[in-house]
Amino acid sequence: MPINTIGSSQTLAEYQPDILFLEEGVSEYPLAQEVISRLSGVPQQEFQDISTLTEQMKSSQYDVFGKGKKSLALSRFKGSFLKKCPGISPGMVCCNYYVVNLSKNCIYDCSYCFLQDFLRNNPMQVAYVNVEDLLSELKEVFKQYPDRNFRVGTGELTDSLALDTIVPYTATLLPFFNQQTNAVLELKTKSDQIANLLNHPDPTNIIVSWSLNPQTIIDQEEKGTPGLTQRLEAARACLDKGYRIGFHFDPIILIPGWEEAYRQLVDTVCDTLPIDKVEWVSLGSFRYRPALKSIIKDRHPETRLFTSEHLPSKDGKFRYLRPLRNQAYETIRGYLMSRSEELNIYLCMETKEIWEDVTGKTPRSDKKLDQFFDL
Ligand code: SF4
Repeated sequence: MPINTIGSSQTLAEYQPDILFLEEGVSEYPLAQEVISRLSGVPQQEFQDISTLTEQMKSSQYDVFGKGKKSLALSRFKGSFLKKCPGISPGMVCCNYYVVNLSKNCIYDCSYCFLQDFLRNNPMQVAYVNVEDLLSELKEVFKQYPDRNFRVGTGELTDSLALDTIVPYTATLLPFFNQQTNAVLELKTKSDQIANLLNHPDPTNIIVSWSLNPQTIIDQEEKGTPGLTQRLEAARACLDKGYRIGFHFDPIILIPGWEEAYRQLVDTVCDTLPIDKVEWVSLGSFRYRPALKSIIKDRHPETRLFTSEHLPSKDGKFRYLRPLRNQAYETIRGYLMSRSEELNIYLCMETKEIWEDVTGKTPRSDKKLDQFFDL
């Protein structure tokens, strides 16, 4: 089903690419065989070199990135999978997080998505099938630093679960992380594609986290994604199965009436789930690199992202003005704390000054939050 025909209240369980590109030799990999069998009705085309294919696909397309959501390429990743989270920027407090990029691009089409700029010349969704190489690399690194606690995420350049029924990375990752003594896997998603998680017997060392926003913002800015209720139902099912779960209120978007919208969001979350059992809630305000603004305006002319003023921070990204960010964090943090004083709440990609304004401390002086920021 083409991405641009899907309404925001529908899930993409039935998503299929229009074409499946196969790098020469990938069909030897078990994951590629699995994907090919799951997409047996989708036309296939072999390619030798992904950069040549990319150049061919780019030519003469206006919305290269958007059109790329309908093509899936299976490839091998040549290089090191494990990277430190790019949240480490001048002046920003970072949560010591590692990322592995198994996949690039996303079937959803959020207006604020930084991939529109970062992957603007990538005319397809790429899934790397050499997961065995990833596991060897992780095993080596975890063994080399036995005293370090690794928090590893797969959702930097894609949604961790949106394609999991087609490209079932979790079938390999969950059993691997179950066995680790110094690492947890964080799957970050807006999806409700949790069948593989519910079918897996062991939730040890797995955290599943959902990005949440008020439904009015989901409708306007998060095209193709499951609605709030579907995300929360998925979160509840994972919690019941024994998985640790977290929520990201990110990006917080300050539409007119945001106070009431986020109050209702907090109420809906807390009325759906036992909030005391949630590992953390992170808060992050809408931010963007300058080049992204015109791309957003072109691809999403109806967006409400730019109704307020934004100024550049030390890391070069534009954000709401500091007093407004403070007010938003304090207000939403207040709503959450009124439902649970014990809840771990942290700020994502924020300055030390904002941390201090909002919480009265930096994460290094807060024992409760140290677990997320410790190396
Ligand atoms: S779900 Fe995440 S990766 Fe996918 S389009 Fe939205 S912001 Fe981008």
